[in-house]
Amino acid sequence: MSYLIRNVSIVGKPACDILIRDGVVAEVGADLSATGAEVVDGTGLIALPGLVDLHTHLRAPGRADAETVLTGSRAAALGGYTAVCAMANTAPVADTAGVVEQVLRLGQEAGLVDVQPIGAVTVGLAGEELAELGTMATSAARVSIFSDDGHCVSDPRLMRRALEYVKAFDGVIAQHAEEPRLTAGAQMHEGEVSARLGLAGWPAVAEEAIIARDALLAEHVGARLHICHVSTAGSVEIIRWAKSRGIRITAEVTPHHLILTDDLAGSYDPVYKVNPPLRTAADVAALRQALIEGVIDVVATDHAPHAVEDKECEWEYARPGMLGLQTALSVVFSECSGEGGLDWDGVAERMSRTPARIAGLTDHGRDPAPGVPANLTLVDPAGRWTVEPGELVSKSRNTPYRAMELPVRVVATFLRGVPTVLDGKLAGGHA
Ligand SMILES: [Zn+2]
Repeated sequence: MSYLIRNVSIVGKPACDILIRDGVVAEVGADLSATGAEVVDGTGLIALPGLVDLHTHLRAPGRADAETVLTGSRAAALGGYTAVCAMANTAPVADTAGVVEQVLRLGQEAGLVDVQPIGAVTVGLAGEELAELGTMATSAARVSIFSDDGHCVSDPRLMRRALEYVKAFDGVIAQHAEEPRLTAGAQMHEGEVSARLGLAGWPAVAEEAIIARDALLAEHVGARLHICHVSTAGSVEIIRWAKSRGIRITAEVTPHHLILTDDLAGSYDPVYKVNPPLRTAADVAALRQALIEGVIDVVATDHAPHAVEDKECEWEYARPGMLGLQTALSVVFSECSGEGGLDWDGVAERMSRTPARIAGLTDHGRDPAPGVPANLTLVDPAGRWTVEPGELVSKSRNTPYRAMELPVRVVATFLRGVPTVLDGKLAGGHA
C-alpha cells in the first residue's frame, strides 16, 4: 500500500507532498503523483516525525484491569506516538530477559507503536542487587534503558555499579530521583499548600539531592545518566551545571509538570496525586523555560493508568499517577509554544528526535525524507478539542484534564508506512 500526503508542512517548512511506499518515505517534493496511492489531504497540517515516549507505564504483565499493551498502544497512536518505552514496574517486574521479551512480543502483536521495553536496574525493584542487565541487553528486546522507576536506586554503591555496567554497551540508567528517607509518608509537594492542608510533604531537596549525587557518579564513571520526570526549579539548575561540566546527563519533564500546580491538591481529588508531586507555579515556569532552552532534553509522558479502585478513593490511599499519552502534544503546545517558545522544529526535537536518540531507536525521530522509515504523525495546529475521560481509549480514566479545552489535534499517524490513525480515529482493523 502506498500513500500520498498532499500539501503538508514538514515541521513548519513550506508545504510539499510526501509519498510513502513499502514502509518508507519514497519521495518528498512538489506535485508528486503516484498511481494507486491513497491520497491524504495534508492542507493546513504539520508532519512531525512520529513522537517517541521515554516513559510509559503499559501495566503489562500484571495489571490488565488498568491497561494492556493493546489499549496503551491505541492511546499512544492517537497521541501521535510511533514508539514508547515501557517501564519495568510490572508484575512480574521486567528484570529478566524473559519478561522484557514478553513485553516486546505483546507490542508487536498490538502492532500500533514500537514498544521498547525498559529493564529494571535491580532485582524486583528492591534496590538490593543488580538485575541481569547484560542478559536483557543481549535479549531479543535489546534493552538499553534501565530504570527502577516508581522507586529510586537510592544506594549510591549500587547506582555506581549500575552505571559502570551499562557503560560497557552504552546503555543508560534512568533514575527516579527521590531520596526515600526524605519522602516517607509524603502525600504532596512540601510547601505552603501542604502546610495549610496538613498533608505530609515531599520536599524538592529529595529530588535535587539524588540528581546532584548521580550527576557526580555519572561523571566519575563516565556513563550515561537520564533523569526521569524532573519537577523542581532546583533540579533544573543542577542539570544545567552538570551539562556545563560535560557530564553525560539527559533529563525529561512530564506534560503535567508543565501545566498543573500543587494547589490542586486542595481539591483532595486523587486525580491530581502523582509522583513526583505537582509543584509550585515557580517550578512550573522554570521547567517550561528549561524545556524551551534544552536544559531539559525531552518531554516524557509518565502515562500511568490506574484502575478505578486505586484512584477513586481517599487521597491518602490513592495510587500516584496520571494518563498522558493522548494529551501530551496538546499540553506541551499549549504551555510551551508561542512567543519565545518552542516552534514545530522544537516540538519535534523534544518529543521525537531526542527521545529516539536517547533510546537508540534509529527507525524513529527522523524527519520525513527519501529512504527514511515512514514513522510520522500529521497534526492540525488549528484544531481544538475538549478532553472527555470517557472518550480516551486507555483502559483507565485518570486524566487530570477533564473538560479542559486543548489546542492541536492528531489527524493521522503512520507506523512504517501503515496508518494506525486516520481522520483522528484508529485506522481500520485497529479500533
Ligand atoms: Zn517515576
